[in-house]
Amino acid sequence: MQFQVCASVSKRPKADLVVVPFFKGKKGADAAVNIPDLIGTLNPILKTGDFDGKEGATMLAYLSGKREKRLLLLGLGAEALCSMETLRRSYSAAMKRCQGKKWVSVNFVIPKLSKLDNKEITRAVSEGTALSTYVYDLWKSKEKKKPFYVKKGTLVGARDLKIAKKTLGIMTGVNLARDLVNGNALDVTPKAFAKEAKKLAQNFSSVKATVLNKKQLEKEKMGLLLAVGSGSPVDPALVMIEYRGAPSSDDLTMVVGKGITFDTGGVNLKPTKSVEDMRADMGGAGAAIGLIQAAASIKLNANIVVIVPTTENAIDAHSYKPGDVYRSHSGKTVEITNTDAEGRLVLADALSYGQKRFDPDRIIDLATLTGAIVIALGDTRAGLFSNNEKFAKLCEKAGDITGEKVWRMPLDPEYMNLMKSEIADIRNSGKKRSAGSVTGAIFLQEFIKKRTPWIHLDIAGTAFLDSAKDYHLSQATGSGVRLLIELLECLE
Ligand SMILES: [Zn+2]
Repeated sequence: MQFQVCASVSKRPKADLVVVPFFKGKKGADAAVNIPDLIGTLNPILKTGDFDGKEGATMLAYLSGKREKRLLLLGLGAEALCSMETLRRSYSAAMKRCQGKKWVSVNFVIPKLSKLDNKEITRAVSEGTALSTYVYDLWKSKEKKKPFYVKKGTLVGARDLKIAKKTLGIMTGVNLARDLVNGNALDVTPKAFAKEAKKLAQNFSSVKATVLNKKQLEKEKMGLLLAVGSGSPVDPALVMIEYRGAPSSDDLTMVVGKGITFDTGGVNLKPTKSVEDMRADMGGAGAAIGLIQAAASIKLNANIVVIVPTTENAIDAHSYKPGDVYRSHSGKTVEITNTDAEGRLVLADALSYGQKRFDPDRIIDLATLTGAIVIALGDTRAGLFSNNEKFAKLCEKAGDITGEKVWRMPLDPEYMNLMKSEIADIRNSGKKRSAGSVTGAIFLQEFIKKRTPWIHLDIAGTAFLDSAKDYHLSQATGSGVRLLIELLECLE
């Protein structure tokens, strides 16, 4: 879908559908914007009381002799509660009504609101509609596919086309992340990540890709990444993608994404009902690669290096074993107390190698790291851990603006007691089940240079959904891409 804008309702183009927003008022639905040429059509519908303007409510009517063939009444809920996120969700409900219908052009009339300005409203409506046009139907037979036919979305009442175009640029990154996470584990392998990185470097002159293969990992002594990959039929790799959007600056943000392409749990094998979604254990890698796609598309004014430590955590005679000790790239030794706590191991080597090679000003890692964060926060918020107040606050703000909300979790030194090993420098999983997401973060912090601002995002709950929610289908969400673009922009 391409966007265009049209500042005045009276000049809007002809279209297959017009979406008209309403607030939920005291006595039924209240118009969120006046459309003189539709008043005569709308009044009898509103008089019936069948449509109350509740958030996400829709009602379709057919028109004759009008600029559009169809009219969709769209509820935004109470005006006082209407936020950017409400707009994303509501317009997503409107967009969903278009799925499978051969409607090519849609006029999305945007509301007038006292607490949001025209730019914010334009942004939220473009995001809500664009986010919900994603479908993953690669494996559906032709007759079962239900595509979107909408090619032209006109934001009626919006003034700034640049905002909507930026949304579409960012969406290419979100959708790349969704595709990578949704793809078969058999296809989305370390090799596929390397290919994806090289493709980005081909498509954008601001992007450069480097891949370390197994031999090079051995030479660099990445003992933890190699240990996790030892049972896999596919070699592990370290994929690095540099984006230089601010070439005259030497400021650099390093983003590390966990790329476990399938997690069996290893010798500590995952049981049925825990293992089925494990092709999504590379949600962090998907988001990190999607971030580069998004940043390069919108020419984000920042320098980013993405590092993806990637392998399958497979079970095999050669798999790494619980009770053994491995030496990390940093030199620290790790007692493996659970082979299913593999994400932190591959991240640790990537973090320490990345700091040595790139000396970044700040670090963000994204990982579907723990089931414990799903217990704590569900799929509504990602867990945020940080060693830096200012950086954490900016991330919270970016979460509120984008709707990719985060929740700050603790890193008190006391939690380290759960990670002490009798035989090595640290163990890889807590002595008890308690504070499972915190001990994962505490482990990672051991591999961060003391003063470097660092954020760890545990996206195990938000990267992959059991069922469709708001503007996301079930399964991959692309969680993290929009959040990090916003965060990097807040830094400027
Ligand atoms: Zn695992």
